Amino acid sequence: MQSLWNERDAAELAGDELALRVYSSRLLGQEPRLVLHGGGNTSVKLSEPDLFGEQRELLYVKGSGWDLATIEKGGFAPVELRYLQRLATLPSLSDPDMVNELVSHTVRASAPTPSVEAILHAILPWRYVDHTHADAIVTLTNSPEGEARIRQIYGTKVVVIPYVMPGFDLARLCAERYQAQASEETIGMVLMNHGLFSFGHTAKESYERMIGLVTLAEAYLQQQGAWQLASSSEGVVPTAALAQNQAQLRAEISAAAGRALLLVGYHDPHSAAFARHERVESIANRGPATPDHVIRTKRLPLIGRDLESYVGAYQAYFDRYEPEAQERKQRLDPAPRVVLDRELGLCTVGKSGREARIVADIYQQTIDIILRAEMLGGYQALPAGDIFKVEYWDLEQAKLRKGGAAPLFAGEVALVTGAASGIGRAVVKSLLQRGAAVVGVDIDPTIGELNGDNALGLCGDITDESALSDLIYQAVRRFGGLDMVVANAGLFSAGCRIESLSGEVWRRTMAVNLDANLTLLRLCYPFLKLALNGGRVVVIGSKNVPAPGPGAAAYSASKAALNQLMRVAALEWGGENIRLNTLHPNGVFDTALWSEAVLQARAEHYGLTVEQYKSNNLLKTEVTSRDVAELAAEMCGPLFAKTTAAQVPVDGGNERVV
Ligand code: ZN
Repeated sequence: MQSLWNERDAAELAGDELALRVYSSRLLGQEPRLVLHGGGNTSVKLSEPDLFGEQRELLYVKGSGWDLATIEKGGFAPVELRYLQRLATLPSLSDPDMVNELVSHTVRASAPTPSVEAILHAILPWRYVDHTHADAIVTLTNSPEGEARIRQIYGTKVVVIPYVMPGFDLARLCAERYQAQASEETIGMVLMNHGLFSFGHTAKESYERMIGLVTLAEAYLQQQGAWQLASSSEGVVPTAALAQNQAQLRAEISAAAGRALLLVGYHDPHSAAFARHERVESIANRGPATPDHVIRTKRLPLIGRDLESYVGAYQAYFDRYEPEAQERKQRLDPAPRVVLDRELGLCTVGKSGREARIVADIYQQTIDIILRAEMLGGYQALPAGDIFKVEYWDLEQAKLRKGGAAPLFAGEVALVTGAASGIGRAVVKSLLQRGAAVVGVDIDPTIGELNGDNALGLCGDITDESALSDLIYQAVRRFGGLDMVVANAGLFSAGCRIESLSGEVWRRTMAVNLDANLTLLRLCYPFLKLALNGGRVVVIGSKNVPAPGPGAAAYSASKAALNQLMRVAALEWGGENIRLNTLHPNGVFDTALWSEAVLQARAEHYGLTVEQYKSNNLLKTEVTSRDVAELAAEMCGPLFAKTTAAQVPVDGGNERVV
C-alpha cells in the first residue's frame, strides 16, 4: 500500500494541526482497502485557550455521520480530553450514558456527535491517532491462528486486543492493555475482528505508520499465497427469464420487509463467480467480516431464493439472542440485504439505490476477505451472538426509533419514456424528488446523462419491440422491478389536413404514440402486477383527445386510441391492483417542440402576444412541464390510490373541454 502523503500539499497546512488532521484523514478515506462508507475514525489532541485565556486540552475526534474521504474541520468534535480520560476509569458506563457524556462535554455547540470510539482515542498518549478497518487486518483476524499470525507479523510493534464490541468496554480494555503491554516500539494496536489503530506525534507519522502496518499485513498475505484472487470473465446478462426471477424475488423480499425495496443487480464477473462458487453455501454463511457491517448487510446473505427459510432462520436468530439482551429489543425486518444466487449473481437490497450500493461496496469487499481467508486455511467469523449485539445495539435501536419518514416512493421503481426532454424529463425529476428509482428511456442519446444511484438513462427506439424489451430487462436488472410507468414518449405532427396526410406520417405517428405503448404495457405488465403498492401507469394524453383540432388528425387519432387502450387496460388489470390514468395537458410551451420562433408565429396567427398566447386558457395561467410532471407523480401516489381510468386535464381550463 502506497503512502499518498504529499509534502507540498502538507506544507501549505504547516502549523495548522487540525487542517493536517483533515488532510491525512482524507488520505485514509481515499483508500477503500482501509475504510468504506463512514468506517474508521481519526483524532488529534490540541491545547486551545478558552474565552478567559485559559488553556484547555481538547480531543478533536471524528463526528458520527462524517466520512473520512470528505471530512472537513467541522466534522471533528472538540471534546474535553481530561474528562474523557477520567471516564475511562469508571467501572462501567452504558452506551447511551456514554454518548450523553460525549455530547455534553463537547465544547462547540454546532459540533457533530463524537465517534463512539472517542474515549479510546483519548486514552492513547499520542497527539495523532488513526483508526481503520483495513481489509488485510480483518482477513488475518478472521482466519485460523489469526492472533498468532498478527503477533508473528508485528511483534512488539502493536498491542493486540481481543474482540470486544465498540463502546465503553472496548475503550476500557484498550486502556488497560495498552498500559500493561505498550513498549518503546509500539506504534499501533490491532483489534481482533475489527481493525487497526496507529499513532504518532505528527499527522504524517501516524498516517504513514498506518500505511506501513497495513503493508506488512498485505505482504504477509502475499507470502502465504493468500492474496491473488482468481479472475473470472462470466458476468450476468439480463434476459426475460432473469428479469422475471429477479422481480419475483424482489416482490417477496418487499413483502417480508413490509415495504417496497429495491433489489439491485450487479453484472461484474467477480461477484457472479462468488455467487456460483461451489462452496458458497459454506463460506458465505459464516458471518460478516467485521460486526459493524451487520447494520448494512445483515449477518448472512440469502443464498439462492428460498426466502421463507431465510426469514424463518432470521426469526430463530432473534428469538435465540434477544432474551440475552439487557433491555427488550424491537425486531428489525427479516429481509436479507445481500442475495447470492447462481442465476441472479450478486444483488443487494435497499430503500434507495444509494443504500443498495453501500451494501454492495461492503459485500464486494467481504467477498475478497472471505476468499483470501479461505486461502489462509478457512474463513472464520465471530459467533452469531456477538453479531446480534451489534445489530441490536441500543444506539442503533435508538436511531431506528427516531428514523425520519422515508420519501413517498422510497424503494419503488418508475420507468418514463421520452425522458430526455420536456414533460418526460420533468417527470423524472418529480419522481426522483419523491425518492423513486427512475429509469428514463429515450431515443435521444443525451438520456445517457441520466445516471446515478437512483437513476438510469437508457437509449433506444421504443417502436422496436426487441429493443424495448431489452431496455425493460436492463431496468429490472438494475433496480429489481417496475412499480410505475409513465407513458410519455410521443410524436406531434400538425398543419396537415386529411386530404394531404401521407400514410407515412400516419403510420409513424401511430407507431410511436399508440403501437409502442401497447408493447410497453404488455412488456411491463408482469412486473407491474408484482408491485407491493400496486402497479401504476400514467398516460400522457392530450387536450386533443376530448377536443381535437384541425390539421392534427394523426396526432389526435393516435392519442385518442391510446386513451382508449388505457381504459381497457384499467378494466382488464384492475383485479391485479394495477391502476391507469391519463393526463391531458395543453399549451405546455417549455418543451423542445416550441421554439421561440414557432411561439411567435402561433401568437401572431391568433393576433396575441406570446405572453397572452401562453396563458390563453380559462385561468389565464401558463402550464409548464413541471405542472404536468408533478400531477403525474401525484397520480402514482396515495392521493390517487382509489382512482383508475380517470382522465384529468392539466390545461388551465379549456372551454372546449368544459
Ligand atoms: Zn472501528
